[in-house]
Amino acid sequence: MFTSINPATGETVATYPELDADGIEMALARAEVCFRSWRDSSLERRTELLTKIADAWEANKQHLAETATKEMGKTLASAIAEVEKCISGFRHYAKAGPSYLEATTVQTASGHAVARWLPMGPVLAVMPWNFPYWQVVRFLAPTIMAGNVALLKHASNVQGCAALIQQMMGAAGAPDGLFQNLAIKSDKVSAIIADKRVVAVTLTGSEGAGAQVAQAAGRALKKVVLELGGSDPLIVMPSADLDLAAKTAVTARTQNAGQSCICAKRMIVHADVYDAFLEKFEAGMKALKVGDPMDKETGMGPLSSVAQRDTVLEQVARAVSEGATLRFGAEKIEREGAWMTPGVLTDMDPESDVAKEEVFGPVAAVYKVADIDAAIALANDVPYGLGSAVWTTDEAEIERFARDIQAGMTAVNSLLASTPEAPFGGVKLSGHGRELGPWGMHEFMNLKAVMFG
Ligand code: NDP
Repeated sequence: MFTSINPATGETVATYPELDADGIEMALARAEVCFRSWRDSSLERRTELLTKIADAWEANKQHLAETATKEMGKTLASAIAEVEKCISGFRHYAKAGPSYLEATTVQTASGHAVARWLPMGPVLAVMPWNFPYWQVVRFLAPTIMAGNVALLKHASNVQGCAALIQQMMGAAGAPDGLFQNLAIKSDKVSAIIADKRVVAVTLTGSEGAGAQVAQAAGRALKKVVLELGGSDPLIVMPSADLDLAAKTAVTARTQNAGQSCICAKRMIVHADVYDAFLEKFEAGMKALKVGDPMDKETGMGPLSSVAQRDTVLEQVARAVSEGATLRFGAEKIEREGAWMTPGVLTDMDPESDVAKEEVFGPVAAVYKVADIDAAIALANDVPYGLGSAVWTTDEAEIERFARDIQAGMTAVNSLLASTPEAPFGGVKLSGHGRELGPWGMHEFMNLKAVMFG
């Protein structure tokens, strides 16, 4: 049994039965059968289905969003925005997908070769709870367009969202087996990866889960894409628009109650503007309205679970014991559920344990640096390399950051967010491979060279 608990109230929302061994076997068999026909489906059929799925999501937007809010605590406004992003993801692949599959012809010494994108088969996705729809859709939409079929192992605490994704596929008239939600615990994942009917696996989540899944994929010699955690820097240089930088930094740190892999977690500020930035940033963090996630006025709801909240509180306590100053906040709110206040840490020792970890909650670390070299060195001084953001109007500085920050993404004078058109992924312990755009779709395709002599 899976139990969904509303982190805003501590109440049980629903329970879901776990799929048994026979159910898993039937799902794998169905996936294999479906692939045999779906791989030969026309691009028009794939576009038509993706459009119908987008329409189904559109028609059920409110219900989808409310379910996410009840299961993992994000504000209803952000849940609606997430559903809308999913709709745009489906529509993007419906429209642009066929062009991503165009063949390329190259001349060879003896004639020419045509490089063609071919589907590979059923792909397993292991997904987390923080964006319970978007994490799945950014895998699912390109999978459908590629001619592959999808199997989902979603996080245990968002099985209601997982079931709704399945329902939307049914409502859109997707063929049986094209997408299957497997309500399973993580101990069933390795055997599914090893199964000969599954061709590859993608995981978004923690390093620990990523390492386990990568080991299973390695043993079976199957391709794996990993989108793991991050400890993204947000760098502020003297030429920055400080009001906008501070406002965006508050959003970047507290969106989704700080539980996003690309939340800006470390604010790295040039000494010349450190005091001014800190004042504005702190004012913004203090002004954030924490409360009922269903209320339109709320800026931040609870964290996703009491366990997740307690992990963040423990990291803050450890940071303080390692010499950091807690300027304010980062406190447990005494009420049922997974509540805490946003907070700001300064004077963090960059070599301390917590400074090297991902803090998956609404607590920022603010650092002062002397120049751009120190900013880049500190930005890179963590095991992660997912996103980053830089605030400067100096073109030479932008070029340095774009070249030298070790990350999969750098946002310039803007909030870093994934978008269906651009590649998304990381380096170092943030994982490997890319999602979205043509790159994400091609990860699980066979680029066949058809040689003409
Ligand atoms: P996990 O990495 O444990 O969960 C992500 C997904 O992986 C879930 O579906 C989970 O299933 C599954 N999973 C976990 N362990 C295994 C395993 N050994 N084999 C196969 N699948 C597995 O994240 P948590 O929810 O425990 O969060 C812990 C930390 O991970 C966070 O504090 C944060 O630092 C990071 N995280 C990063 C995310 C990101 O977007 N990059 C998203 C979520 C978390 P189940 O739920 O059943 O355990």
